[in-house]
Amino acid sequence: MDYTSALLTDLDDTLYSWVDFWAPCFRSMVHVIHGQLGAPEDEVTAQFREVYARHGSVEYQFSVQELELARGLAPTELDALVRRVKGAYNRVREARLQPYPAVKETLQAVAAAGIAVVGVTNAPLFLTTRRLAQLRLDHLFAGLAAWEGFEAADDNPYVKHRQWQSRIPRTWSFPKDLLKPNTHTFRAVLHDIGIPPDRAWVVGDSLEKDIRPALEIGAQGIWARYGMTHEQENMDTLLRVTHWGDDAIERVYAVGGVQPSRAIDRFDELLDVLPVQLGLSL
Ligand SMILES: [Mg+2]
Repeated sequence: MDYTSALLTDLDDTLYSWVDFWAPCFRSMVHVIHGQLGAPEDEVTAQFREVYARHGSVEYQFSVQELELARGLAPTELDALVRRVKGAYNRVREARLQPYPAVKETLQAVAAAGIAVVGVTNAPLFLTTRRLAQLRLDHLFAGLAAWEGFEAADDNPYVKHRQWQSRIPRTWSFPKDLLKPNTHTFRAVLHDIGIPPDRAWVVGDSLEKDIRPALEIGAQGIWARYGMTHEQENMDTLLRVTHWGDDAIERVYAVGGVQPSRAIDRFDELLDVLPVQLGLSL
């Protein structure tokens, strides 16, 4: 399909509250491991932190297998533990992973207006294509650009589910050093879909990672400032587990220095900005 303009949208904390879904999922994993192996929850949390630091992401998928605590387990015991932990995670995810208000309706209106909706995220491609399906938003996306993701050995028995097929017609994956705030992902996507930057809107919750590179390439940068608000308990969980240093956290959540084209408090405020004529077809 030929598009004349594009909406490049961040995913985490722009389309859904990542912090408020991830943190309860994480705590459920810790809780199961504590129940199964008897280790104190603080100790389990600290071990997860170590594994995540090693892989550079708190969404590393094979973390249970790499916990120090899991080392002495027989393969069948480990399998059973992984299954239990995954089950708990998925149950909490189903309850907590929800789009923010009006996200679906807005993306529907944008896509129906012939604007290319492309996700641009630093999270792993495999994880995020699946997440957009879980959110029932995947059919609204023309494309998704993401991190190429974790290395997994060919004989890793836990990677078989990666064969899952996404409904998103076009995907791009990039190594870590080319991800946001690098402008490369935005430039590459716009080049490939043939949209000049001045016909593109970038929406995201991070002034540093989303808005700064958007403005740098000459696109409009729309700051989803509602994405900064999370339940304190969940923010505390993230800070206990993340390998990011204090300066990295400050940079992501910094509010100074970057002047967005526009700030929005709900996702559907995009409809005031984008060339979407509501109700025209009625
Ligand atoms: Mg974000």
